[in-house]
Amino acid sequence: MSTTIEKARVRYFGRLTELSADQRASLLRRAGTTNSLVRDQTQEILLRVRLEGDGALREMAATFDGVSLDQIEVPRAVRRQALAEINPMLRSALERAARNVGRFHSAAPPRAIEIETEPGVTVGRRPDPLQRVGIYTPGGRAAYASSVLMAGVPARVAGVSEVILCSPPQKNGYPAAVVLAACEIAGVDRVFALGGAGAIAAMAYGTDSVPRVDRIVGPGNAYVAEAKLQVSRDVGIDSPAGPSELLVICDADSDVDGVAREVIAQAEHDVDACVVVLALGADTASAITDAIERTLPSVSRGDVVRTALLQQGAILSADSITQAVDFAEQFAPEHLLLALKEAERVLPDIRNAGCVFVGEQSSVVFGDYITGGNHVLPTGGLARSYSGLGPLDFVRWTSYQKLTREAAQRLADDAAVLADAEGLQAHAAAALGWSAPMIQTKDNGRADSIATLARESYRGIALYSAPRGRCAADLSDNTNLWGPPPAALRALRSAGELEVARYPVAYEPELSRALADYAGVPSEMIACGCGSDDVLDAAIRAFGEPGDLLCVPDPSFSMIPVFARTNGLRPVAIPLTGQLDADAQAMLGPGARIIYLCSPNNPTGGVFSRKAVEQIVDRAPGLVIIDQAYVEFGGDDFTDLASSGRPVLVTRTMSKAFGLAGLRVGYGIGSPELIAQVLKARGPYKVNALAERASIAVLDSDRAWVTEHVDKVIANRSAFRAALAERGVASLESSANFVLIPVGHCATASLILERAGIRVRPLPGLTRIGDAIRVAIGPWDMMQRCLDTLVAEKMIGLAAKAREGA
Ligand code: PMP
Repeated sequence: MSTTIEKARVRYFGRLTELSADQRASLLRRAGTTNSLVRDQTQEILLRVRLEGDGALREMAATFDGVSLDQIEVPRAVRRQALAEINPMLRSALERAARNVGRFHSAAPPRAIEIETEPGVTVGRRPDPLQRVGIYTPGGRAAYASSVLMAGVPARVAGVSEVILCSPPQKNGYPAAVVLAACEIAGVDRVFALGGAGAIAAMAYGTDSVPRVDRIVGPGNAYVAEAKLQVSRDVGIDSPAGPSELLVICDADSDVDGVAREVIAQAEHDVDACVVVLALGADTASAITDAIERTLPSVSRGDVVRTALLQQGAILSADSITQAVDFAEQFAPEHLLLALKEAERVLPDIRNAGCVFVGEQSSVVFGDYITGGNHVLPTGGLARSYSGLGPLDFVRWTSYQKLTREAAQRLADDAAVLADAEGLQAHAAAALGWSAPMIQTKDNGRADSIATLARESYRGIALYSAPRGRCAADLSDNTNLWGPPPAALRALRSAGELEVARYPVAYEPELSRALADYAGVPSEMIACGCGSDDVLDAAIRAFGEPGDLLCVPDPSFSMIPVFARTNGLRPVAIPLTGQLDADAQAMLGPGARIIYLCSPNNPTGGVFSRKAVEQIVDRAPGLVIIDQAYVEFGGDDFTDLASSGRPVLVTRTMSKAFGLAGLRVGYGIGSPELIAQVLKARGPYKVNALAERASIAVLDSDRAWVTEHVDKVIANRSAFRAALAERGVASLESSANFVLIPVGHCATASLILERAGIRVRPLPGLTRIGDAIRVAIGPWDMMQRCLDTLVAEKMIGLAAKAREGA
């Protein structure tokens, strides 16, 4: 295409489609590049202000503005006087503009939101107004009072605490009077007579006179723009502002003189302004060119306009509105004027423009000053990614998130899986800290009044919860997975009315007799309870004063520290030895009032050596509890120690080998004196009559069923461990009805299994072992299913990896 400068006096004139690739690119590529001189000088100015503060600012005022500054800050009286003295019509126009800007910008203030993404998971975002904002307003020819309003009013709307402004001093030492007046109208708090890069440095870093701000906004010359970029590492800035831009789309129906006025008005700003007209039809393009020529002689800043049009102007004819809009989208102008009858219809198609002026009567000049829309808009094609100035630019957002305990527990597994996938083990462990049902957590700081009335030590205790619900194979709770013994069911079915309507006999003498017979001790040596949990809890209460220490091996039965705390004792965790035996020396060390031992130990499955146990029993200053909930499945029976004359309580349960976990029956074996204390602490009627009846039935007539199923557990336990070993997976030796398998990541492992219908107990970060899953031993089809999933999901690799690392 020809550049018909002679006729049109613009850089490009002709058909849009005839622009060469280079010509089109040069129109589209107009983001300012800073020359290295400006960059270096700006850098020096910033450094000087940082080092010398006000002194440097005064010297710069003398050099660049030719004034000697007495005071850097403009006294309030001077500002008030400026307002009082401006032309009343100008004042009223400024006030009207400020009012409209205020109306528009208050209509959509930044709003806080808070939503529940899942039950119990709250995510919110709250706008916090910036503390202090700095506005820059140029002086001299471009002393735009309107820009003061465009930045100052939205800052006030957003709730900024302090708004300050810098503008270069005139000969009288103060910024232009109209700027000062606008500051009064916009509610600017403090004004400083400072210009250029020095002003930006002062606001970014602070000096004795100028306070440091959180964000700097407002246009300026090349030095100001460069200074803002250079300080942007230390303070927020708005989008870089370059020379003004206008793109007009018009057609044969448009008023060509009106279009010409728009072109000239925007070109008047600056010789670097960029104005493009896309006319539908070559005749319209020519007519607009003529109209510009007609109008220019009467324009006072005609030289600026001419230079701008020659440097960057274009009047091009487009074949269709689609073609024109496509170009406008690529151009992304600061101002887009749709001087078309159909403007409303085109508006929705425009995405990349600082501001769209809809219809030829919607002159850009109204937007520049008075409509209430903001005239601080992105230039240089940045309208593709930035928006015009508004209250959002004067707040920062504080995001927050809250989870209920239940939600934390629900999210923990998936969070841990994600962390694991990113190789962040500590993240995974942090998530899992909330998933393991028996892990205790601190109260979430909520000082709810009833909780504070409860014992202080209860605040760190969470209610116990374990996942339940349907799954094909629940291997998570170490119960008898073949179900209950038939004698128990028969006994329950034949229960009589009296057993339901009346209290049972206190302290269950009948059940104690049957248990004593089973354990081979006199019945005065038996204390029953609602599960062995009840007996353990009562024994701790009977033999420990609040404040006493209770030593518990680590890892071991996780309810023990909880029972210690609920009874006011302080649990002390003593790591197992390298062989996972009780560390007798270390357990005796603290001189604890109660020492708890567990053999076979949950969750390791291993047994404690008789040597260690006896050493502890011999030397312990107080009660020794030996929890033998799993004794039927292997290991030494320590019942004999209950008759040793030492304070020893051996506890056992009907929940595991006997298949009666739902009935909640457990018992302790100890000397009659010891048992009497435990029963006092426990209280009467803790075993219900039906549970008592069913337990007696099994103890008296179905022990063969129990033995048969214990044998099955033992057989399946070795087969399961052997099958794991064949696939290269080590599991811990077990004398219990479960097996512990160390894995790379227990949340991942248990989640994968859960999705395949198998529930196991994930145990994160066990002392000496690390992450592990605990798998109860049941019928072989369940074990096979578990093995298959472990293999299919390549968790074998996970487990192997864990072993290598160990
Ligand atoms: N001791 C140990 C070591 C346990 O693992 C359990 C339960 N899993 C208990 C005691 C409590 O069992 P219960 O209250 O059902 O007798």
